[in-house]
Order: sequence, then C-alpha cells, then structure tokens
Amino acid sequence: MQVVILSEGSDLDAFSSAYGLTLLYPSTFILLPNVLQYKVSKAISLFQDKIKDKILTKEGINFEKVDKVFVVDSQTVPDVNVPIEIFDHHPNKSLNYKGKNVKLNLYNVGSITTVIVEKIKKAKVNLDKEDATILSLGIYDDTGGFKFSGTTERDLKAFTFLTKSGLDFLKLQQVVSDTFDLEDVEVIKEIIKNAEPLPVEGKKVYISTLYRKYSKDVAWILKYIKPFEPADAYFLVVNQKSKKFIIGRSKDESIDVGKILSQLDGGGHKFAASTTIVGFSYDEIKTFLTFLTAKHQKPLTSFIKTDLPTVEADLSIEEVKSYLGRYRYVVVLQNGRYVGILNDKLINNAIKHGFSNEKAIVFAEELITVSPDVSFIQLLKMFSTYQTDIFPVVEKGYYKGVIYKKEFVSEISGIKEDKPIFLPISKPKTVNYLNRVKKFFPLEIFQTLKEVGEYAEKLGYRAFIIGGVVRDIVLNKENLDVDIIVEGSAVDLIKAYAKDKNFNFYVYPEFMTGVILLPNGLKLDFATARKEEYDSPGSYPKVEKANLFEDLYRRDFTINTLAIEITKSNFGKLIDYFNGLVDIKEKRIRILHSLSFVEDPIRILRALRFAGRLNFKLEKKTENLLIYAVERDLLNFAPTGRINLELNLTFKEENTFEILMLMDRYKVLYKLFAGLSIDQNKEKVLIKLQDSFLLLEKVLGIHFPKNSNYLYVLLGNYPEEITYNLLKKYHFEKEASYLNEFYTTLQSIKNTDSIFDIYKTLKSFNRQFLPALMSLLPEDKFKIVLEMLEKEKKPVLTGEDLIKLGLKPSKIFKDILEDVFVKYLQNSIKTKEEAISYVKKTHLKRLSNQPE
Ligand code: ATP
Ligand code: MG
Repeated sequence: MQVVILSEGSDLDAFSSAYGLTLLYPSTFILLPNVLQYKVSKAISLFQDKIKDKILTKEGINFEKVDKVFVVDSQTVPDVNVPIEIFDHHPNKSLNYKGKNVKLNLYNVGSITTVIVEKIKKAKVNLDKEDATILSLGIYDDTGGFKFSGTTERDLKAFTFLTKSGLDFLKLQQVVSDTFDLEDVEVIKEIIKNAEPLPVEGKKVYISTLYRKYSKDVAWILKYIKPFEPADAYFLVVNQKSKKFIIGRSKDESIDVGKILSQLDGGGHKFAASTTIVGFSYDEIKTFLTFLTAKHQKPLTSFIKTDLPTVEADLSIEEVKSYLGRYRYVVVLQNGRYVGILNDKLINNAIKHGFSNEKAIVFAEELITVSPDVSFIQLLKMFSTYQTDIFPVVEKGYYKGVIYKKEFVSEISGIKEDKPIFLPISKPKTVNYLNRVKKFFPLEIFQTLKEVGEYAEKLGYRAFIIGGVVRDIVLNKENLDVDIIVEGSAVDLIKAYAKDKNFNFYVYPEFMTGVILLPNGLKLDFATARKEEYDSPGSYPKVEKANLFEDLYRRDFTINTLAIEITKSNFGKLIDYFNGLVDIKEKRIRILHSLSFVEDPIRILRALRFAGRLNFKLEKKTENLLIYAVERDLLNFAPTGRINLELNLTFKEENTFEILMLMDRYKVLYKLFAGLSIDQNKEKVLIKLQDSFLLLEKVLGIHFPKNSNYLYVLLGNYPEEITYNLLKKYHFEKEASYLNEFYTTLQSIKNTDSIFDIYKTLKSFNRQFLPALMSLLPEDKFKIVLEMLEKEKKPVLTGEDLIKLGLKPSKIFKDILEDVFVKYLQNSIKTKEEAISYVKKTHLKRLSNQPE
C-alpha cells in the first residue's frame, strides 16, 4: 500500500495531484491532515462518492502495511521509515532529509497537478468526467485561472487534455470561486465586529465569537477575518446551544494552540486546534485563553510545589510534629508512595487525646489528588467541586508535590498583591457597650452571657461575642444568633458551664467548637479563636490557637469584625480593630485585605448580600477589587455547593430584589448564569414575583419556597436545556427536576384561551411554583389564573350543598362539582342559586337514579 500524505492546510493543487497519484498507482490512498483549505473541503464534499474510498484518516491507517509515501506540493517529509517520493513545483528548499530514503522531483510548472496529469496521459489511464474535473481544480486554482506569472504552457496543455476528457466547468467554478453567499457575509461581519485583542504581553493574540447559527464549517472563513490577519494567533468561540466550540490558529512557533486547547480538553496541533467545552461563558473562556496563551511555555507543572515536609508513614505523631515546623501540612509517604496529608490541627488534637505514639499513617487524610499532567480545565473543575486549599500531586502512586489553590487563583486572576484595605490603627478602639448589650438582649440571654463570662474568667480565658450579632447590636437590628469566641478552649468552657447549669450541649473537639442549647430554645455557638484558614503556600507560622485579633483578621468585612467582650472583668467592652464602627456609621462594606476575594470568592456574593440587606455601599477599593475579581472569573473557583448555599441565603433575605439588582449591576448574575442580565422587563417580572408571593400567600394561605420561584423567574427566558444545566450546575436538584413541568405548564397556559384548558393545566401543576408561573404570564392570563385560585378557594357549590339537596355522597359528586366549577369559572354560573338550579336541571335525574 502507498500513501499520499497531505500537509496541514493543503490547497487544491496538493489535493488534485494526490488524487491523480491514486489514479496512477493502484492501492494508493490519501491521508488527510487536520486542516484543509476551505476549497478542498468543498471539493471533497462535492465529489464525495468518487473520493471517499481513497481517503484514510490517521486512526484508520496501519503504517506497517505502507511501503511507500508520496509528498505533493511540499518538500517537508513526514516522519516515516519507508521510501518517500516528493513531487513539487516550488524552488528547492535544500532540506536535510537525515539519511531518509527520499526521492525529490522538482518541476518548473504553475501547478504540480500538471505533472501528474502528464503522467496519467502517458500511462493512458482512463479518466471519467469527474476525474477530469477533480484534476482540473489544482491546475486552475494554482495558476489563478492561468493568470499568475508562474503559469506555463505545460499547465495549459494538461488542462486542455482534461477538457477533452469532459471536465465539468460548472463544478470547477463551484469549487474555485471565492464568492460568499449572504449567510457567509453575515457570519464574517459578526466575527469581525466581535474581534478583540487578548491581553497577552509581547504577542498579538485575537479572539472573537460567533452567536449566529451557521450551516457551514466555520473554519474556512477564518482567513477572511481582517482583524485576525496581523495576529500571531487567534481564537474563535462558536456558541452552540449549551456548548461552545473553540477554534485556535497560530502563526507563531512559540504559541502552540494545540497545547493550549488541550488544556481545555481539546486536540489538534501546534498551528491549528479545536475543542468543545460546556458550562463556561465567553468571558470565562477569554480569561482562560489569556492565561493559557501567556503561560503556555510555563506549563501547569510550574504550580506543583515541593516545599511541604514529608514524613514516613510509620513515624509517630509526636515525631511528625517536629517535622511540621512552621508549616501547616506534612505529607505522609511510604517508600516514596503517597499515603496522605496531616495538618497541624489534626496532629495537635491527636497528641492532646493521647495518640502521640500512634503512627502517622493512622491519621493521614487521603485528600483528592491530581496527576502531574492534570489539565487546566480539570483543575478548574476540581476547584469548583472540592472545598480544599491544597491538591497533592501523585503520579503512579508516587508523591510529586502539591498545588495550592490560592496560588493558582491569584496567578490566573492576576490579583497577586496583598495589602490591608482597612484603615490601619495601632490599637483597637474600645467603647463601653454595657448598656446597649443589656437593652439589646432578652434578660435571659443577657444573664447567660454574663454567666459564661464568669466561667471564662474562672478558667483564665477571655470570651467575646462577635460577628453578625455585634454588627446588629450597633445597628440596633434584631438578631439572636449569638457567636462566641474564646481565647482559650471553647470546648472546655462549654463543658464547665453547661454541665453546671444542666444545659444540653454539643462539642466538636476536632474543630475546637461547640453549641449550648438554652432551655428557651435558643442556642449559643462557641468557637476557639483561630487563625487564617486560607494558607499562603505552606509557609504559615504554626500557632495552635490564636488570639482575638487573628481570629478577626480572617473574616470577611470590617462590619463583621467587631467584638464585645463578655469576660467578667471587661463585660460589655466593644473592641474595634479594623474601624468597623466607622464603616457601619458610613454605611459601607469593606474587605480587610486585597486578596480577600481571591482567598474566598464567596465573599463577592456576601458583600452584595450585606450591601443589599443593609442598604450599604461598597467602599471604593473594595468595589474595584470586587469588579476586578468578577471580571477575572473568580466565581469559577468557588465550590458550586457554596454558591448554592449563598444563593439560598439571598433568596431568604427580605431585600432579595435589591441584592439581585446589585448582583446584576456587578455582573455577578452574568457570570454565574451564562450571561444573565436583568433588563427592564425582567425587573418588572421580579417585582411582580414579590407581589405574587404576598398575594398568593393571602389568597391560598400557604408559603412558597422563595428560592425555586426566584430561580424560575430569573432563568425563565432561557431555553429549557440551558436553564436545566444551570440549575444542575449549582445543585438545585428539586428545581431542575420540576423544570420541564414548569416550562410545559407555562407554555400551555400562554398558548390557550380556553378557560377550561387553563384550569385543567393548573390542576395538575405543582402549586409551589405558582408565584413564578404567574409572574411570567402576560397580564390577562395572570388575572384569569388569580380569579381561578380565588374561586377555587371559595367554591360556589360544595359537597355539603349537594347533600342539602338530598343527595347521597358518592363518586359522582366530584364530577358534578367540577362541572359546576368550570361553569362558574366561565361565568355561566355566578351564584349559588344559579349553581343549584343548574344541578337540578342537569344532574338531578341521573342522581336520583343512582344505585344505593
Ligand atoms: P447573618 O446576619 O447573615 O447571619 P453574619 O455576619 O452572622 O450575618 P454568618 O454567615 O452567620 O454571617 O457568618 C458569621 C461570621 O463569620 C461573619 O460575621 C463573618 O465574620 C464570618 N464569615 C462568614 N463567612 C465568611 C467568609 N466567607 N469569609 C470570612 N469570614 C466569614
Ligand atoms: Mg450569623
């Protein structure tokens, strides 16, 4: 078997000459490259029947059976170990074939197909009409229709020969013409309009996107996109339903689009590649491609760090502790093979509970590991799935290092510098809040806090109420969620106090936290003061417990960092380390340091939730960092489970609407929900939803799940498939499972004017989602449905009325009542009298005959 191997981007001349070789030499096949010029693709589809048996793909070829390779219209040889014969018409490139068996045939002609046609003529191979047409393509195209200066008499003669064999000029024209149809023009216009540079330093890299549907393979059009022309590399993102198709092209040796797109689960080679991805927006893809293009020479493996100490699995916990040093984690190995990770808390707890001599392997946690060739997209998916700060890298069971989430996120987002944002103060401000505390809490709780403070003092600890409740004491907003922080041991304090008082309690020593349940049903949450949870790469100083300041420094916003001491001797002293009091007074949300959103992107959502709830503004630097963080897609790095929790909290707030408007303004909805924005229409629907909650709760006397209804309204305009995927993405399982029913009901009510049909549809509809359904209906249908619900609640006729008429309860009751109800809905029955006389007239006979 012989194979003509076409190189990437082959043109018609290469293709026609390759085809000619298959005619000339039996059992010769063409191996197509990944990328063909558009005209070649056109030719292949036009002459499909002729060509399909002569084409092989890389997968379909068995190289052991190949005894010769042809190369046409090029002098670059493939990496094979069989004789190679080249036919080319370009100047001799004097390539070094390094001992390969290469026969180079160069000709001075306008098209290399000409030479092959001459050979065919000489060998008297029979050509049919289609063969002749396919061969003519290369000659015609490469000589520019015989206008190019390289055209020779030989080309004309070969072409004439093909004409005599019956070449089809119409088909020739179809393939070689460069004209666009209307669809092509629209597509080109859109891609040009959307084209923009990616901020990759030192290189010209462009990106664009296409939303319009296109019936053809989009690849051919790339060379007509003007902004792409000067680019070293470019990408096109084609939007298809819930997926995105990405094509990458490069002219620059150092930008390997094959590698770049392989990081997004794609394939291809250095200069041309493509991929399909699901679940990311265009903006996100831009961020990824910027990062990957800038960093492609520096592979992801540069994120693998080997700074953590490693210990052998049979070392005792006591000994492991000495290895921990200033690190928060140690890696446990057994002969180099990965066993798991131990962290400082675990080690300290193990020692405290008398397991000092136990082996490291007993306590090591396995954690989710990745392999060194993990792709960018896989890492992203892991970050959004698992709530952990480090990922051990393991190859064939052997430990290779760890990847720190924070480092990765900060590198991709470009937010690297960490500076305090609060107004630094040397000493905390203190204010006497005794009276405010006394007034704020019910006496019982106040007494309890005093007692807890006495116990704390006895044990030599300090105790504080902190966070949300203190913020709300300052704001004078009701809040009985009391969080207590202990400098000392929260667990011991709980045990001492609750046992004496005979209160129920739970403690979680491994977390150094616990809860006391008060007899009045309220609970007090306790935690031991601790440090920063989010670590910088391995190097955090290890401290068993922390003081109040350190505990507060890891918190989200200054307004949540206030503490009021309850230790007996300082009871009622408000402590303000970060100027939280001023920020509350000035009504602003301020993060504590510039990497705050990088450390925990959920804070983006929290910031807007507090701003919307309290009617506060974002402090300027915080606002800029938030905008930047959203723009750089940090929300992608937040575990989707936490996004679910945070959204549910948002829907539970009184000011959900305000919060959603903020989430819209700061493009958070856009990022979370595939480009969602709240336009005027959606704003109206949201307001209608709020009214519907109130109205329906009054009419029906039931409560509705806020989250489901908000989600259906927010995502109600998307095609069902997209909404479904988004709901699934953020773990709204219930909402996803009812979505189809919801959409179907909505559509059928919209599409009918029959009161009866609407009633029927509504009857089987899950009432939980009524507020969303009604808000999405046009006004007239809204009224109809509302009237239906009201009438349903107060029916014109009941079973009792029928009994009063002297009828015995039976299965037919239901039918009669429904019949009357429908008439009532249609207004042909308006009063009970009318209903009764209707029943007498229509049903009485049948009923009096009913069997006993
Ligand atoms: P709410 O009134 O909504 O309960 P809160 O301030 O009490 O407001 P919680 O979610 O109950 O908020 O959290 C308790 C405290 O924990 C907060 O006051 C805050 O200091 C801290 N906190 C919560 N989430 C984060 C986070 N993502 N990053 C840093 N600190 C946080
Ligand atoms: Mg709280």
